[in-house]
Amino acid sequence: MITPSLKRWGTGNRVKVTLSSRDFLDGLLLGDGYYGSPSVYSAFFRLNQKALHEDWVLNIGKRLEDIGIKYKLGEVPPQVRVTKTGAVINAAASVYVQSLSYRDLIQERDRWYRGNVKILPKDIRLGAQELLAHWYMGDGNFSVNRENKSVNVRLHTNAFSEADVAWLSKSFANVLGLKTTINHWRRQPILCLQNENASRFLDFVRPYISKSFLYKAPEDCWKPSKCEVCGLDLIGRPRFTRFCHQHRRERMLAQNRERARALRKINAPVV
Ligand SMILES: [Zn+2]
Repeated sequence: MITPSLKRWGTGNRVKVTLSSRDFLDGLLLGDGYYGSPSVYSAFFRLNQKALHEDWVLNIGKRLEDIGIKYKLGEVPPQVRVTKTGAVINAAASVYVQSLSYRDLIQERDRWYRGNVKILPKDIRLGAQELLAHWYMGDGNFSVNRENKSVNVRLHTNAFSEADVAWLSKSFANVLGLKTTINHWRRQPILCLQNENASRFLDFVRPYISKSFLYKAPEDCWKPSKCEVCGLDLIGRPRFTRFCHQHRRERMLAQNRERARALRKINAPVV
C-alpha cells in the first residue's frame, strides 16, 4: 500500500554517495559534523564552526556542491545564555553549513548513529587524505615542545568509546603505518602521534587543509608561526598559536565587549 508519506519518500531529494564523497563526509563526522533527520525518510548534514574558520565552512559548501548536495550557509551571532542555575554561558560567533534533506543520507546517518548516539562505523577509510584532513581540522591539535624537542599531533576522540579509540589506534598502524598512543584527558581517550609519526601525518593531510587551519599543519614544525594580524614571530608559549600577545588581548577585549552587550540585552527590563 502506498501511503502519502511513502509517496513523498519516493520523490525525495536523491544523491549518489560515492566512496570518495563518503570519505569527505566521514572526515567531518569524525569531528563535529552531524546528520539530523527531520523524518524517517531523509537526513541532512550540518556542521557549526567558529566564525574564525569561515573559510573552511565555505570550502565544505563547495565540496558538497561538487558531490551533488545542495546546502545553505548561515551565521549565528555571539550569544550569552543564562541557565536556570544562573550560570552564564558565552558562545562565540559561529557559522554553519547545512545540506538539504536527502533520502540517500539516511543510510549514512544509520552508519553513524545508534538512536541519537554517535558511533564509529568500522568501514571508514582511514587511508583517505581528505577524511583525515577534515577530521584533523575539526578535532585536531598541534603543538611542539621546544624543551624535549617533540612534535605532537592529537585527535580529540573523546566522543568515542575506549574500544573504538583502540580500534582507531590499531587501524592507524595497519592502514597508515603510523604509531599512535592513547592518552587520557578527564578520563576520556585522545589519540596522539609524536615526532616522525606526527610529521608524516601532517605531510599527508596538508594538501587538504584550509588556510585558517594551516597553523596546525606547518611545513616546518620548528619555524615559529606568525601573528595573523601583524606577522610577528610567535616563539615560546604554545598557547600563542595564531596571535601575538597584543593581538590576542585585543581580540579578547572585543569578544568581552560583545558579551557585555549581549548580557545587557538579556538583563534589560521587560516593558
Ligand atoms: Zn600581532
